[in-house]
Formats: sequence, structure tokens, C-alpha cells
Amino acid sequence: MARYTDASCRLCRREGDKLFLKGQRCYSTKCALARRSFAPGQHGQGRKKVSEYGLQLREKQKTKRFYGLLEDQFRLTFDRAVRMNGKTGENLLRLLELRMDNIVYRMGYASSRSQARQLVTHGPFLLNGKKADIASMTLKAGDVITVRQGSRKSPAFENLSGARPVPAWLSFDEDTLTGKIVQIPAREDVDIEVKETLIVELYSK
Ligand code: SF4
Repeated sequence: MARYTDASCRLCRREGDKLFLKGQRCYSTKCALARRSFAPGQHGQGRKKVSEYGLQLREKQKTKRFYGLLEDQFRLTFDRAVRMNGKTGENLLRLLELRMDNIVYRMGYASSRSQARQLVTHGPFLLNGKKADIASMTLKAGDVITVRQGSRKSPAFENLSGARPVPAWLSFDEDTLTGKIVQIPAREDVDIEVKETLIVELYSK
């Protein structure tokens, strides 16, 4: 699978916002955005007039990078959001939040979404009792995620990050390593600061 391999912090500096791509480092004083809060590259500190298209493009890029998707995956998710009932922008954020890798990250099993993706593909999780090792799968309300007995002694599950609160739309029991999707997240449950309507406008051109 294709993936982004350049320096993660450049993406945050490009978007001018924390995308939380590097685990604990993002919460420390070593965060590159805290030290150099301007876009990377030779013209990163220059003043720029941003067009309407530029604003829409930045919102799309920021969202895509926040969830660690490449363009094709993101576009496919958007197309699914269009076919759903309700507001397309909110549907898009909901589908992104309900990805298996994001939920594993939200439950505190990993310190970043990329780490969560890698962990999922190694196959330690059960979804409603069945093996689930596809990071992009979409979960639904009522789904239960547990860790296989044979994987529980893995170092990955010894010291769960615990630094981030589990959102209210999920429940998680650290003792039994069991998590549940209590309800589908509402827009206000999604903590990325993005104007999703700009993404809809961009893809509707
Ligand atoms: Fe972004 Fe984290 Fe790097 Fe800070 S440390 S710039 S939040 S990836």
C-alpha cells in the first residue's frame, strides 16, 4: 500500500495546525510547529494571498493528513459520504472517525494514527469476536473491539498511552481490553478544526 514517507512535521507546518502525527512528541516542547510555526520551504515565511480555491484545498489536505489518508482513499471516502443521507461534510468526518485505525487510536492503544494502522494490520484485534486486521474498515454503533488472548501479553498492550481521554461516543475498559462504539459520533464530537463545507465545495467543482 502506498504511504507518505516524508517528514511528518512538515505536514503540520504546511497546514499551520497540529495534526498529531508523531505520538507523544506532539504534546511536548519538541513539537516542530511550536518551534517553527511557519510553512516549510524557501518561501514558507512569505506573506501570501490565499484564493478561495486555496482555502478549500488546504482544508481538504489538512483533513486528509490528520487521518493519514492518501488522495485516492480520501476521495473514495468522500464519494461514500455523498451517497449517505444527511450533510456530506459531516458524513465524511463521521466515516473517517469510524475507521478501524482511528478507533484503535482513540481507545488509546497507539500514540498516533499511523502506529494504530500498523498495529491493526498485525492482527491482534477481534471485532465482535472475529479477527479484524483491515485498518480502513468502517465500524458501526454497537461494535465491540477486544484483543485476542494470544496477543494480550504483547508489549504493545502493556503500557497503554492513557494520556488522551477516550471520547464520549466510545467506551473502553483497560482491564479487559474491551472497547465499544456506544454511538455514532456527532459533528461536535470530532475534534479536528476544519470547515468541512469547504471540502464539499472543492470536490463539487
Ligand atoms: Fe505535528 Fe506532532 Fe510534529 Fe508537532 S510533533 S509538528 S503536532 S507531527
